[in-house]
Amino acid sequence: MQLTELGEFGLIDRISRIVHEGTGKRDVIVGIGDDAAVVRSNPGSLNVLTTDVLVEGIHFDLAYTPFESLGWKALAINLSDIAAMGGVPLYGVVSLALPITWRVEDVESFYRGLKRCGDTYRCELVGGDTVRSEGKGFISITVMGEVEKEYIVKRSGANVDDLICVTGQFGGARVGLEVLKSGHDPKRFSDSVDRFLEPRVRLQESQWLAKEMHVSSMIDVSDGLSSEIHHLCQQSNCGCRIWEDKIPVSEETMDWVRQQKGRVSDYALGSGEEYELLFTLSKEQYVAWQKSHMNRQKTELTVIGEIAEKEKGICLVRNGETIPLVSRGWDHFI
Ligand code: ADP
Ligand code: MG
Repeated sequence: MQLTELGEFGLIDRISRIVHEGTGKRDVIVGIGDDAAVVRSNPGSLNVLTTDVLVEGIHFDLAYTPFESLGWKALAINLSDIAAMGGVPLYGVVSLALPITWRVEDVESFYRGLKRCGDTYRCELVGGDTVRSEGKGFISITVMGEVEKEYIVKRSGANVDDLICVTGQFGGARVGLEVLKSGHDPKRFSDSVDRFLEPRVRLQESQWLAKEMHVSSMIDVSDGLSSEIHHLCQQSNCGCRIWEDKIPVSEETMDWVRQQKGRVSDYALGSGEEYELLFTLSKEQYVAWQKSHMNRQKTELTVIGEIAEKEKGICLVRNGETIPLVSRGWDHFI
């Protein structure tokens, strides 16, 4: 069905039906349908807020992105920012600028993906705005969450001699994108394609990193590992040494690199949209955690380097040689 057949309010009505499926888990006093949403926030907690904009043609391409995955991802990238602060999400609002070439069914699929992501990570959608775009599609999502004061984790908390660690493995998101773009069989690289289209959010992990491992700094990897390492070191006013061969790279990435005759390090350090967590913690904390918790966590954690004095610079150890770590992440304006 064409958007013009249904109109703005008919569309919002359909959106609201998808969003309100199942029972509300939280204290939403007023949800979709009024001038603004009213929610309860927990006394004693602090609010954490984040927003992200996705522009068609820059952040997503409908040639290979199903609307349902787009909905999942649009929310997931916000949840990842909440996770990176040590917080948990509560509520989200979604603004859409829709080209009239998008169909009602497309918008509904988008909301189904969004809702599935929200249900998975317990984030409730409570409102938004819907307008027409003469050109590309725009999606903007804002998420509010909460964090306990003592568990806020900033980018700026790393200390000299801290270990630098990551969750999960790298490269997959870029492989997924390249597989989709080049028209290869997605089944052979299904983990990577899934990871690119519908990244999982390291929310549970961030909770035990903040509460049990007392990590000193944290950032989520959205632009590329090398770029996030630079952000973390700059904000913590320190340098670092990263051991290139320690960066965990997925099997599928290794296969793809071999097939494409690419370089593993481009994928390990330059792959954006991985949505893993990069964090630092003291060596004592790491040893204590290894003894007590190692086997309780399912998610792989890998030490990839250590924090050094600022004067030592931001360095990469490659084949035994120490070289400057070049930031190769995504930048919109360069
Ligand atoms: P107003 O003109 O007062 O901003 P709207 O007509 O834009 O009100 O919105 C009516 C209701 O529908 C509000 O509760 C708003 O949050 C909700 N809403 C509008 N667009 C969306 C959307 N894309 N997703 C979710 N909720 C939406
Ligand atoms: Mg409005």
